[in-house]
Amino acid sequence: MRSLLVYLWASPYTLLGLSVGGVGLMFGGRVRCRSGVVQFCEGPTKRLLHRLRDGQFVLAITLGHVVLGQTEAALDVSHEHELVHVRQYERWGPFFGPAYLLASLWLWFRGRDPYRDNPFEREAYDADPPC
Ligand SMILES: [Zn+2]
Repeated sequence: MRSLLVYLWASPYTLLGLSVGGVGLMFGGRVRCRSGVVQFCEGPTKRLLHRLRDGQFVLAITLGHVVLGQTEAALDVSHEHELVHVRQYERWGPFFGPAYLLASLWLWFRGRDPYRDNPFEREAYDADPPC
């Protein structure tokens, strides 16, 4: 029962992820499931991730119970990190996006890195430190 509730709680983001990944799938992308998460990669999904973060390298991004990754290898490398974000979506539900953005904005105003210093990212990097 808890499982169903956390999937429902995070579902607005999951639906967005399924929509983006689904479009990617229609134009040459790939899909797989791992640890209760739908993972999309390659094709348009890969090209989309190349355009994020002002040209900085993005391996993967989580939307609810969906992870969009550049490649299967990128999904493998980032799996533990992205699972932390999945758990964050399960805790925060529809409030995750605004909470993440407000934290980033607050950090930016204070002259800190809105990505690396974001508490949601720090929790994910603490669980899975970068190589
Ligand atoms: Zn992250």
